[in-house]
Parts: sequence; C-alpha cells; structure tokens
Amino acid sequence: MLIHFCEESLKELNLYILLESRIGLFFKLYLQSDMALTKTYHCPRCNNTKLIVYDDSFDCPICMLEFEKKDFDIFEDDEILAVEEKIKVVRALMDDD
Ligand SMILES: [Zn+2]
Repeated sequence: MLIHFCEESLKELNLYILLESRIGLFFKLYLQSDMALTKTYHCPRCNNTKLIVYDDSFDCPICMLEFEKKDFDIFEDDEILAVEEKIKVVRALMDDD
C-alpha cells in the first residue's frame, strides 16, 4: 500500500514537472513572439543588434554613434545619419552663413 502510494505521488510529481516545463515553454514562446512584434533596431553602419536602446534613439557601442529611431521609418540604412553627424551637418551649414 505504501509502495503504491509512492508510485502514485511519483506519477503526480512527474506530471507536475511536465506541466511546469510546458508552462515555462509556453511562457518563453509567448515572450519570444512578443519580442518579435516589438520592432528591433540595428546599427545602419555595422549591422550590430546589441544596442543601447533609449525611448527615441539608440547607441551603437561599436561605432560609438547615436541614431534616432524615427529615421528608420523614413530612410534606408545608408541614408540614416547619426545624431553626431547631424550636428556636424548643422554646424557646417551654420558656418556657411
Ligand atoms: Zn555600429
């Protein structure tokens, strides 16, 4: 009787572990699909995806440049200017006057 009880609880434990891992997997898949929906950004210069992301912009730690997220909706990769480059352009224009 005791052995039978142990077997039963072992089965229950196995079922519990199986269920737990299933829930974990579902949760992982849910998180992954959620992340896929969130637009992922990449550095337009080196294609690096390990970026320091802010609300409106992100930094590429390899190129040491900051890019604005909104530029990605308007321009192609090779047309995107880093914040630092925009400042240079503005300064160059101002110096012309
Ligand atoms: Zn980069």
